[in-house]
Amino acid sequence: MSTLIDLHAHSSVSDGTETPTQLVRAAVAAGLGTIALTDHDSTAGWQEARAAAAGTGLTVIPGMELSTNWGPASVHMLAYLFDPLNERLISETARIRDGRLHRAESIVNRIAADYDLTWDDVLAQSIDGGTIGRPHIADALVARGHVANRSAAFESILHWRSGYYENYYAPSPLRGVEMVVAAGGVPVLAHPATHGRERMIDEDSLRTLADAGLFGLEVHHRDNTPDGKERLLELATKLGLEITGSSDYHGEGKPNRLAENTTSAEVLEKLIARGTGSAPFVG
Ligand code: AMP
Ligand code: FE
Ligand code: FE
Ligand code: ZN
Repeated sequence: MSTLIDLHAHSSVSDGTETPTQLVRAAVAAGLGTIALTDHDSTAGWQEARAAAAGTGLTVIPGMELSTNWGPASVHMLAYLFDPLNERLISETARIRDGRLHRAESIVNRIAADYDLTWDDVLAQSIDGGTIGRPHIADALVARGHVANRSAAFESILHWRSGYYENYYAPSPLRGVEMVVAAGGVPVLAHPATHGRERMIDEDSLRTLADAGLFGLEVHHRDNTPDGKERLLELATKLGLEITGSSDYHGEGKPNRLAENTTSAEVLEKLIARGTGSAPFVG
């Protein structure tokens, strides 16, 4: 029985390249005992993931990566074991997905002034009703031969400094924590030190989130800088926050491999004890 725990992975319901079924199979093949499905702003993959896990021995933690905006910065918040029928979360995530859709259309319109690219190209790279993001625009740019792969697209045309970048609507991190907690869920800040310790959320703001029910920090993630991880560990101790680690797997859309970072069984046990909105699925 595997005890490897990976609490952050995406499917084609958002910007992963594998269906929930393929993701579950990849998790089993990678030797994981537990995986959390955390598509951006959507729970649409939960049912398929559970069905695919049945009989495999894999435990699936239902989750989501909720978009929030902290001033001009996009802050991602992992949410686990919340009630998928919670009305506020449903309406807020619908609003975020709609904002993402219009923002992507607007970005594409402006790119199309300089490159051969259409909105239909982008739609062809995403599923109906899925959460649209820059990765789908990247895939369309790859299909048109403008760039070699997603990473190259993010380093050029889709970079926030490229001139094509736009933000999209999202609630504040504090509202995010409050909404997830109100839905019986467990919030964890995703990759909080992607831009190093200088640019991460400040201690006072983090304390406010902790007081509102933030459970933990995703410290062990390939995008957190080494000095940022050190600072996160200090803050976790100081504020009584748990530490998680995960891959942020996107299939072939990113180099991140399943189980490249993992979470301890003790932390998973506390997370499951805290979550009351939905249950882990033991396959
Ligand atoms: P968006 O949410 O539309 O702003 O796009 C950001 C998403 O793009 C993140 O959630 C990542 O999954 C993905 N992403 C960011 N950087 C890269 C990269 N270099 N290569 C592939 N995907 C990336
Ligand atoms: Fe993503
Ligand atoms: Fe993220
Ligand atoms: Zn992610």
